[in-house]
Amino acid sequence: MKSFAYVSAPDLDTALRTIADHDDVKLLAGGTNLVDLMREGIEQPATVVDITRLPLAGIEELPDGGIRIGALASNSRLAADPVIRTRYPVLARAILLGASAQLRNMATVGGNLLQRTRCMYFYDDVAACNKRVPGSGCAAIGGFSRGSAVLGASEHCIATHPSDMAVALVMLDAVIEVESLRGTRRIPIAEFHRLPGDTPHLETVLAADELITAVELPSVPVAANSHYRKVRDRASYAFALVSVAAALAVDDGTVTEVRLALGGVGTKPWRASEAERALLGGPATEEAFGRAADAELAAAVGGPQNTFKIELARRTVVATLRHLLAERDTA
Ligand code: SF4
Repeated sequence: MKSFAYVSAPDLDTALRTIADHDDVKLLAGGTNLVDLMREGIEQPATVVDITRLPLAGIEELPDGGIRIGALASNSRLAADPVIRTRYPVLARAILLGASAQLRNMATVGGNLLQRTRCMYFYDDVAACNKRVPGSGCAAIGGFSRGSAVLGASEHCIATHPSDMAVALVMLDAVIEVESLRGTRRIPIAEFHRLPGDTPHLETVLAADELITAVELPSVPVAANSHYRKVRDRASYAFALVSVAAALAVDDGTVTEVRLALGGVGTKPWRASEAERALLGGPATEEAFGRAADAELAAAVGGPQNTFKIELARRTVVATLRHLLAERDTA
């Protein structure tokens, strides 16, 4: 591992000044992704700023019915929070289906949003990878691409975003609060992650001098009837081939509210807006669920090894909505 300067920030102001005053800085929170990347030489920061002492781990209810989650709240704590489990079960379940208990104990909400792709070529320093070395090419195109994206890919990168938690947050319209010496920004999560385009090394709109301080969930009553379904090669400790976060409200057989997001298929956590539009106001039937999935996936493009994800995503959307419909009927 390349040597680096280590700064343990005692407060937010020190952390912000340090990242503003230094080039090539990485923030250390849970370290569950960063430390691996540094060991592999993929990340080689000149300075690591340890932010684990900052008071950003709280989870609090807001007067408008939403929830404010500190960026340093651990994934385990968030998944176990009684309000999250009751009002946003999709989020608790998405977190519990990601990683091991040990990793969830260390991983933070802010770090989870910033975790990097698990594309095998990204971790292989002799492989061409535009995300690791801009302009070097993409070994996954024409290479091993079974896990690659079918939505949002470009000719420069086809890697999926790995987070389960972020898929649920996209479905819930979370807002990410970031801080810098220039002030506070609130970024809707749908605008936080970038599509790869011709700059796949730029993954979020976070500026170099900004730090995530919190994630806020709005009040989303329909989320009380929500679910996260994850399909993967192994029953545990595997990234999603396809995942679906969904919430559904039905009145007299008609869909009155629906939220859908997809994981494992997109280059960013994917809000399925086309499917939502197709479902809203229509019948809550399996046929309608399938047509809505088709509407979303019409833009999907697969390669020789990952085209199966398109049909798998369709089936997973249908299965998730069918589950929610049954839950509602038995409630
Ligand atoms: Fe790199 Fe993206 Fe290509 Fe994977 S898909 S090799 S991360 S450029």
